[in-house]
Amino acid sequence: MGFKSDIEIAQECEMLPITKIAEKAGIDDKYLEQYGKYKAKIDYNLLKESDRKDGKLILMTAINPTPAGEGKTTTTVGLADAMQKLGKSVMVALREPSLGPVFGVKGGAAGGGYAQVVPMEDINLHFTGDFHAIGAANNLLAAMIDNHIFQGNALNIDPRKITWKRCVDMNDRQLRNVVDGLGGRTNGMPREDGYDITVASEIMAVLCLASDITDLKERLSKIIIGYTYGKVSEQKPVTAGDLHAEGAMTALLKDALKPNLVQTLEHVPAIVHGGPFANIAHGCNSVTATKMCMKLADYTITEAGFGADLGAEKFLDIKCRMAGLHPSAVVIVATVRALKYNGGVAKADLNNENLEALEKGLPNLLKHVSNIKNVYKLPCVVAINAFPTDTKAELDLVEAKCKELGVNVALSEVWAKGGEGGVKLAEEVLRLVEEPNDFSYAYELEGSIEDKLNQIVQKVYGGKRVVLTANAQKQAKQLEALGFGNCPICVAKTQYSLTDDQTKLGAPTDFEVTVRNLKISAGAGFIVALTGEIMTMPGLPKVPAAERIDVDETGKITGLF
Ligand code: ADP
Ligand code: MG
Repeated sequence: MGFKSDIEIAQECEMLPITKIAEKAGIDDKYLEQYGKYKAKIDYNLLKESDRKDGKLILMTAINPTPAGEGKTTTTVGLADAMQKLGKSVMVALREPSLGPVFGVKGGAAGGGYAQVVPMEDINLHFTGDFHAIGAANNLLAAMIDNHIFQGNALNIDPRKITWKRCVDMNDRQLRNVVDGLGGRTNGMPREDGYDITVASEIMAVLCLASDITDLKERLSKIIIGYTYGKVSEQKPVTAGDLHAEGAMTALLKDALKPNLVQTLEHVPAIVHGGPFANIAHGCNSVTATKMCMKLADYTITEAGFGADLGAEKFLDIKCRMAGLHPSAVVIVATVRALKYNGGVAKADLNNENLEALEKGLPNLLKHVSNIKNVYKLPCVVAINAFPTDTKAELDLVEAKCKELGVNVALSEVWAKGGEGGVKLAEEVLRLVEEPNDFSYAYELEGSIEDKLNQIVQKVYGGKRVVLTANAQKQAKQLEALGFGNCPICVAKTQYSLTDDQTKLGAPTDFEVTVRNLKISAGAGFIVALTGEIMTMPGLPKVPAAERIDVDETGKITGLF
């Protein structure tokens, strides 16, 4: 269609030196650790030593997505650029991309079109090495577990009940299940093992929720790596602390804990830090990144993964609760494409005008709007992220229908126009954040695990109730007996539907959600409720994006998107 690719647009940007961006954000030189010319880490002591009043927090979320991604990151960046155009002090907090999806189907995760963070090649490839550090800490713990068993197993760890896996930041299905320790007595104890992608490691979730280095160490020591020999009733959890691993793991992570400073195409300071899965983990950037932006700017815009039923729910019920954050407004990204998809149009036909399907998909958007307003009691606005394939009739219909129903709505054209295309959205957000709000959680921490799950299913998904399989009921009892009953719940389910069945689109009612497995992430501090098999080590597609990525003699990268 003759559009420039994301990487072409990014490479045309004349970036400011990172010292200039730091200056703009009001970061004292003593807190800045430069990683080359355009990246820097910020010392977390800034958080403790600054007495500036916190700015306002704005969450970017979305309706249930299509398989293509709906433009949350793009809209986050574009909204910040637009606020800057209006003369506001603003920052962006985003997740770091994982190498697996960059080389697989999804491509990069640094925004799109004229709303990106740069240097996009670096951000998408290795960046400042945080994920490698997380991998190293994860694998140190794995090595210490197997060494402990090899050296006599004083803790009585049952090798068949080790839940800790090794990890690597790559889509590599070959490693999902492995047998290691082969080769005889001197080469370890053979056992079934496996790899997760680094972003699925509990260390990622821990790093993102830790408030400082002491909290990080405490959380790491609580990580459960497996269970001792014996009947279920006699099994005891074994922790990283029992293996005395937390000190060395924290040492490996001391720089990874520091947020990374970069810039948007329009030179708004952006912090890109941490990136946990949005299914088995909570799916948003680090607490330190969010808090640092709030300390430095009057307005912080941050993104939560997937749709609002998963991303926003966890951002509000897990992250905000743990970190004591109080958001001022929520933006819900909707696209004509995603609405048509929710109205029953197949992925291949999303580029064709279809007003009927569009209207049929609206209830999905309205359910998310109602959740933000009535469950979480936060002001919200719908941002319609305009795609080149949208027709005027389609865009007009969404806007008209939203207005008819009393839903705040603004067209966002930041992908095509940068900050200029987001001014209307920015004006509406700036109005909303001044409204007082009674931010509430969807559930309280007291009450049984089943109780909390019921509240999520009923209030947020719009279903009838949760059903725990016999296995999950047993696990709930065990977790409550171990003292984890009052942890928040992190639901792992499909992102494409409000239900646990990805084919049920729109806004279904009267459905049940089946939880098959309950697992404790004791370091992160939440219970993971799995509704089905969740892939924690993706694979590459038939034609991986990696086949198109290249670098020339000058070091210029092509083919990233
Ligand atoms: P999310 O954060 O919701 O996953 P992204 O912002 O990363 O979505 O966007 C996903 C992809 O869609 C990116 O490649 C981006 O360039 C593209 N995209 C986003 N918004 C638009 C738009 N308005 N028009 C065309 N492409 C877009
Ligand atoms: Mg995104």
